[in-house]
Amino acid sequence: MKKREINSARTPLYRDAGFELTTSEMTSSAFVAEADHEREPDLYIYSRYRNPTVVSAEEAIMNKEGSEWALLAESGMAAIDIALSVFQEKDKRKKWLFSSEIYGGTLSFISNVLINRRGIDIEFFSPSDHNYDYEAIEHLISEMRPEILYFETISNPLLIVADGRRLIKIARKYGVKVIVDNTFATPVLWKPLDDGADIVIHSATKYFSGHGNLTAGVLCGNDKALLKKAIEYRKYTGHMLSPDDAYRLQTQLTSFDLRFRQQCANAAELAMLLNDSDKTASVLFPGLKYHETHDVAYSLFSNKGFGAMITFDLKGDSSEEKRLYRERFIKAVYPAIKLIPTLGDSHTILMPVEPVWGSKYPEPGMIRLSVGFEQTEELIKVIGMALNA
Ligand code: PLP
Repeated sequence: MKKREINSARTPLYRDAGFELTTSEMTSSAFVAEADHEREPDLYIYSRYRNPTVVSAEEAIMNKEGSEWALLAESGMAAIDIALSVFQEKDKRKKWLFSSEIYGGTLSFISNVLINRRGIDIEFFSPSDHNYDYEAIEHLISEMRPEILYFETISNPLLIVADGRRLIKIARKYGVKVIVDNTFATPVLWKPLDDGADIVIHSATKYFSGHGNLTAGVLCGNDKALLKKAIEYRKYTGHMLSPDDAYRLQTQLTSFDLRFRQQCANAAELAMLLNDSDKTASVLFPGLKYHETHDVAYSLFSNKGFGAMITFDLKGDSSEEKRLYRERFIKAVYPAIKLIPTLGDSHTILMPVEPVWGSKYPEPGMIRLSVGFEQTEELIKVIGMALNA
């Protein structure tokens, strides 16, 4: 078959493992250029290095995040590994500072890999009473002078919103690099790079892909030196996303803003419903006025929404009764709302907090909802009925 340009408006799905280099001269210039680690190579060599379908999906994410570069990886955890590893150098011995309110998988990566295997000196800061003490954090940073500050914009499962702008300002004052996991807020609510973050991470498994049907991660930034290190690390560790997943991600990204706005609107409605019910002991949703970080969220997210996650606690006279009501609720919303351990799916899904987090959040009646983009009325009916069941 003759090679020809096809008049398609989309970047095709290039499944090539290796790309054709027609002469030795071309091969040599491709490999020389590859050593420069440009975001978009002129000549592709091998799909673990760079793939045109993946580069095209990365450009779609750059448009969402307003970043100079974006690099896709095969999971959110792989993106986190790349983002952190670019700061690890043999003789650098500075501490890394993390918020304790981050994804459990990231915490496991920190203890099992960063501390136990790589010997990195890591410290945590924690919120108290569902909020951060920024003066205490500044004091800690001024004393510790860490290499990196790492936090999530909206924490999980307590949904504490960090004043990201303030944290970045503090970090920059002391020359500390900032990595933000913005999975829960997404660029619809806040773009940390605009406020001076060095790297933004997303588990693209969640809202970016939005249909619970692929696993991917992405890191975005503006600094070209970091990009080169990140491309190099991704290449050597093989953390590359497959072109098939990149193609699907790019297609699903076209509806990302619409989906996420609807999810935020649905979550706000459900949070009010849960809050008004006499069956709930508390509702954690940053959109509710009494939430400890409501004001921070309102200002950081410029009143564009408060995310699409809600954690609520069912009332009960004892732990046993709370567990019983939790199980009844889970049964009552089924099959409209299923127990699926992910988030950011098209449909509303839930997770009981106690079986996942154990004693870290000791409220047996707690349930975390990841709100989907179903018709709002349908969701209100399902949850309303379950609360009365
Ligand atoms: N960051 C956050 C906030 C997450 O919730 C998750 C997964 O749930 C990850 C990172 C890891 O992403 P992945 O599961 O795509 O590796």
